[in-house]
Amino acid sequence: MTSAPTPHGTRATAVRTRFAPSPTGDPHVGNIRTALWAWLFARRSGGQFLLRLEDTDQSRAVPGSLARIEASLRWLGVDWDEGPDVGGPYAPYVQSERLEGYRAATDRLVAQGDAYPCFCTSERLDQLRKAQQAAKQPPGYDGLCASIPPAEAAQRAASEPHVVRFHMPDEGTTTFEDLLRGSITVENRLLDDFVILKSDGYPTYHLAHPVDDEAMQITHVIRGEEWLPSAPRHVRIFDALGYTRPVYVHNSVILGPDGGKLSKRHGARFVLEYAEDGYVPEALFNYLVGLGWSLDDHTEVIHPARMLEVFDITRLSVTPAVFDTQKLEWMNGVYLRDDALISPDRLVELFADRLDRDLPPEAPRPIDRELVRALVPLVRERIKTLAELPSMVDFFFTGAITPPARETLLGKPFRNDPEAARRGIEGARRFLAATSEWTPPAIEGALRAAAEELGQKPGDVFMLCRVGITGRAVTPPLFESMALIGRETCLARIDAARALLEG
Ligand code: GLU
Repeated sequence: MTSAPTPHGTRATAVRTRFAPSPTGDPHVGNIRTALWAWLFARRSGGQFLLRLEDTDQSRAVPGSLARIEASLRWLGVDWDEGPDVGGPYAPYVQSERLEGYRAATDRLVAQGDAYPCFCTSERLDQLRKAQQAAKQPPGYDGLCASIPPAEAAQRAASEPHVVRFHMPDEGTTTFEDLLRGSITVENRLLDDFVILKSDGYPTYHLAHPVDDEAMQITHVIRGEEWLPSAPRHVRIFDALGYTRPVYVHNSVILGPDGGKLSKRHGARFVLEYAEDGYVPEALFNYLVGLGWSLDDHTEVIHPARMLEVFDITRLSVTPAVFDTQKLEWMNGVYLRDDALISPDRLVELFADRLDRDLPPEAPRPIDRELVRALVPLVRERIKTLAELPSMVDFFFTGAITPPARETLLGKPFRNDPEAARRGIEGARRFLAATSEWTPPAIEGALRAAAEELGQKPGDVFMLCRVGITGRAVTPPLFESMALIGRETCLARIDAARALLEG
C-alpha cells in the first residue's frame, strides 16, 4: 500500500479515489473516462475506489440514473469498494442522505465567522447583476448580508428564508496544487462570497465536495477541468474546517472533431449505447483511457489488464483530446481479431450473448456454443462490431432460411439462362450427395467436379450454392460454412433452391 502525499500533509491511508456523478441521466463518455482514470489509479496503487451519488441538485435529477451509471461501469469492468449499492464504512454514499453533515459543517463555518446567512431576495440579486453588467464590473455577490451582526442574523435565520454564503477574504491570494498543472494562485478579491447551503437546506457542490471527500478519506480528487475555477473556493473550505486537502487532478475536456465540446452531434454515444452498437467493453475502455492519456508516443492498443500495470496518472494530458469515432471503430476491430486481446473463450461468450439477443426466436436456445466456437475463425476478420454478427451467421442457427429471391439466385451469370442455373444446382447436389466426406476440401472438390462436368465456371456454381444455402450473396467462406451447416441441411436448402428455379 502506498501512502498518499498531499501538498498539505500526508494521510496515513492508501490511495482512495472516487467517481462522483450527478444523477442527470446516462453518464456521457467524458464522465466515464474520468471514472476509468480514477479507478485505474486507485487499483494500480493498491488503493480503493468509491462510487458516490451527488444528487443535491434535485431539480436536475433523472430517475433511474444511478442504475444506468452502475451498469455502464460494470459493463466496462470497473468495480467499486464502497458505494450506494455495496455500502461501506462511510455510508451513506448518496448526498441527499447526508444532509446533517453539511448542515453541521455549515453551522461550524457560521460560528467561526467563515460563513453567514444571506437574506437577499432573487430580485435584489438580479438588480445587482444588472448594475454590475452596466458598470462593466465582474458579476458576484456584494457581501451585503455579511454586515448583519451575527446575533441578529441568527435570529432572522430561524424564521426567514435564506441561503448561507462562505466568506471569501477580500484581500490576499489562495494557492492550491494540481498534480498535472502545478501550483495555481488566484487573487481572493476575484472570488465572491459563494453559496454553500441553499434555501432548501441542500448544500451546493462547493460544500458537499469538501465535506464528503474529507469524511470519506479521499486522497485524490480526479475531476473535470470545469471545476478548476472553483478549486480555490474548495481549498478555502478544506482549510477553514481543518480538513486535509486532497491532491487535485483536473483533467482536460474532450472535443469533437470540429473543435467544439464533444456532444451527440459528433456521434458520441452513451456507454450503454456502445454496448448496444456491438462494441467490446475492453476496446471502449482502451479507447477512452487513451483519450488524453498515453503510455509513450506510439502505443495505442493496451488491454485493460495491462493498463492496470502501466497506468501513470502523471501522464494525463492537460490539452483537450479529440474524439474520433473511426479510431474507436478501428480499435474495436483490433480487439475482435486479436486472440491476445480477447481470448477465444471470451469471444465465444461475446458472440453467443449477441446471438442470443438478436437471432430470431426460431433459432434454438441456448445458443450452440460449439457452433459459435467453430464460427469464430470464419467471421472475426469480417466484422467491426458485434452488431454485424447475427445477420452474417443467422443461417447457421435456423433450420430453414428465408428463401432467396429468384433474381438473387440467378445472379448475373444465369440472369438470361435459368435452365443453366437449374442444371448447375442439380449437378452440385448430385456431387455433394455422393462425396464420401463432408469437409471443406471434399465440398470444394465436389463442386469443382460438378462445374467441370457441366462445363460451367466453378465460381458460378459456388455462387448458386452460396445463395441457395444461405439466402445471401455475401457470406463467410463457403466450404467452411457448408461443412458447419451439415450435409443434410445443405442438400435440403439446395432442393428448395432448385424448386424455386423450376417454379
Ligand atoms: N458531481 C460532480 C460532477 O458530476 C462531481 C465532480 C467531482 O468529481 O468532484 O461534475
